[in-house]
Amino acid sequence: MPARVLVVDDVPANVKILEAKLTAEYFEVLTASHGRAALEIAQAEQPDIILLDVMMPEMDGFEVCRRLKADARTAHIPVVMVTALSDMGDRVTGLDAGADDFLTKPVNDLILLSRVKSLVRLKTSMDEWRLREATSGQLGGDLSAGAPFAEAEVSGRVLVIESDPFSGEKICHLLEQKHCTTVLAPTGKEGSRRCDTEEFDLVIVSLYLEDGDGLRLCSHLRSSERTRRLPILLVIEPEEMGGLVKGFEIGVNDYLFRPIEGNELWARVRTQMRRKRYQDLMRENYQRSLSLALTDSLTGLYNRRYLNAHLSSMIERSQSDGKPLSLFMLDIDHFKHVNDTYGHASGDEVLRQVAGLISHNLREFDLTARIGGEEFVVVMPDTPIAAAQMVADRMRKMVAETDMPLRGAATTSPQRVTVSIGVATLVDGEGGDELLRRADEALYAAKNAGRDRVMIATAKATV
Ligand code: GH3
Ligand code: MG
Ligand code: MG
Repeated sequence: MPARVLVVDDVPANVKILEAKLTAEYFEVLTASHGRAALEIAQAEQPDIILLDVMMPEMDGFEVCRRLKADARTAHIPVVMVTALSDMGDRVTGLDAGADDFLTKPVNDLILLSRVKSLVRLKTSMDEWRLREATSGQLGGDLSAGAPFAEAEVSGRVLVIESDPFSGEKICHLLEQKHCTTVLAPTGKEGSRRCDTEEFDLVIVSLYLEDGDGLRLCSHLRSSERTRRLPILLVIEPEEMGGLVKGFEIGVNDYLFRPIEGNELWARVRTQMRRKRYQDLMRENYQRSLSLALTDSLTGLYNRRYLNAHLSSMIERSQSDGKPLSLFMLDIDHFKHVNDTYGHASGDEVLRQVAGLISHNLREFDLTARIGGEEFVVVMPDTPIAAAQMVADRMRKMVAETDMPLRGAATTSPQRVTVSIGVATLVDGEGGDELLRRADEALYAAKNAGRDRVMIATAKATV
């Protein structure tokens, strides 16, 4: 995993030590000897993780961390504060400033490296979402501002899997004081069951559980689709370093040493919940932009782009299965007149209504798309021409008999519209374009023959 680490420390010897350790593990190392340089390098070089000293002249590490987290260009980069300070108050100040972890010098090499690796891994998966987000061009305002990291108020639903009732209740109590909802599960089995059936924002797991190994449970949570993205916080004794290193390998997001200290618990829980929110937001944005690209915003049906892409694979499948495939093209009659008489907004309502009538009266594997202003295409796999003609005629009747939401100045009675339809069935060796062209020709013939009718395409396009 080639990753870039920015090491920030005002004492050259400290930089050298960390640089040597990291380089030995094949990390690429960037260095800075004061806060301002750190901020500049972080912006320009976009490292995968930042190891940050606290006590530095001019700008201390806390302030550097705060600024990194307030800047949209650097807010997503994990920060580990590495310091000689061991005071609990400092740890919490660091976590409050947005640091992902706070390690005390002399740092245990194994912990440092596994921590760096685990944070880089988390960042890599997040980068993937950021990239998709950027590609789809839908970066929302709340994301670009790095807001989920800066947000003061977070709360959520936390599952605490802990067999020691005293410790379990203490954790729950501390979190409830911060307005979280908690559920206490005394065994791994119970915790696992809860995760399968309920929604949580975070799970806290004790390394030792009455009915087995907490790490086994963590590994199960990571591999199951439902809980793959659920942040996990591991509770361990300070001497259980081996367990912690394994935990990071499995994909545990963070840890807490016993005895549990309230402020540190809250600082770590909050960081994890913010991170999860940020990721959820990115995923939602991405999915929304994806559906925007393939669906028509007025009717919610698929658009022409999707039809083109999907029709060819439907045709391939129909040919390899040796099953007939038919489609029809439908166009609203005299739609210009509807717009002219009742206004464009009423026209839009009619389009929605017709779209609804079509899509709600088909089988679920039929594909409906709006391919133009008042033109729709319905593709029906495993459907011979006679059946397609029946469906099309049923559709035509249904539209003609449905009251449309039209209220003109001249009349208060509900108005109706009619549609013309051209049906075509796939012939051997034909592609989607040709099939659509023949349906279009049949539609044109239906218009010429007086509208409000269904016509069947000839087997060969007349060019
Ligand atoms: P024909 O019976 O021959 O199909 O006549 P028509 O008036 O329906 O056909 P034409 O293609 O000449 O006009 C289609 C009209 O649909 C023109 C356009 O203003 C309108 N239109 C296209 N897209 C939209 C839309 O999204 N909303 C609304 N309200 N009108 C639209
Ligand atoms: Mg029309
Ligand atoms: Mg038209």
